[in-house]
This record gives sequence, C-alpha cells and structure tokens, in this order.
Amino acid sequence: MTTESSRRRDSDLAALVEHLDALEGAGRRVPCRAGSVTSTAIWTSDDPVEQEVAAQRCAGCPALASCGAFGLAHPRELGVWGGRTAHARRRRPRFDPSVAA
Ligand code: SF4
Repeated sequence: MTTESSRRRDSDLAALVEHLDALEGAGRRVPCRAGSVTSTAIWTSDDPVEQEVAAQRCAGCPALASCGAFGLAHPRELGVWGGRTAHARRRRPRFDPSVAA
C-alpha cells in the first residue's frame, strides 16, 4: 500500500537524486558517489564507526544542505544524509529551561 508519506519520500528522493546528477554533470564531486562500491558502502553501513567516517566525508559536498534537509525530513531513512548519521538525525534537542523562562 502506498501512503502519502511514502509518496512524498519518493518524490523528495527523486528531486535529490536529480540535484546530485546535475551537480556531477557540472563536474562537482559528490563524495558518497565517488569511488568504488566498497568505499561508498560506509554511507549505508550499520556500523556506527563507519557511519561517523561517512558523515565526516560529507564535509564539502555541494549537496550538503539539500541532502541534510532530506535526511531531517525523513528521519527513518537508513544511513548518512547531509553529514548526519541516522542516530544524529533522530536525536531530539534537549529541553532547555532557560529558553522557556
Ligand atoms: S551530503 Fe549527502 S550527497 Fe553529499 S556526500 Fe553526504 S550523503 Fe552524499
């Protein structure tokens, strides 16, 4: 069954992939797409250490903001998006009583 949220996710992902294709077409380097299948597998790894390495390698990616927006909009997605691991994207900000006062 296709839900509205899964349609939105598919649409958002298609837009992001189109953006990445355009960047690469313009000669920009997208780290998670550069290199061998083995070296890019860390972006979807279950290993937290590998995910941290992948997240660090996102630095300088020309799609950092748009990819990060996708990852935050779809927190249940596996892997690293926009320099954030799945754990970091799902973490909620802590309540700060000084802000509420
Ligand atoms: S920011 Fe997104 S597109 Fe860029 S390297 Fe990281 S995961 Fe890939």
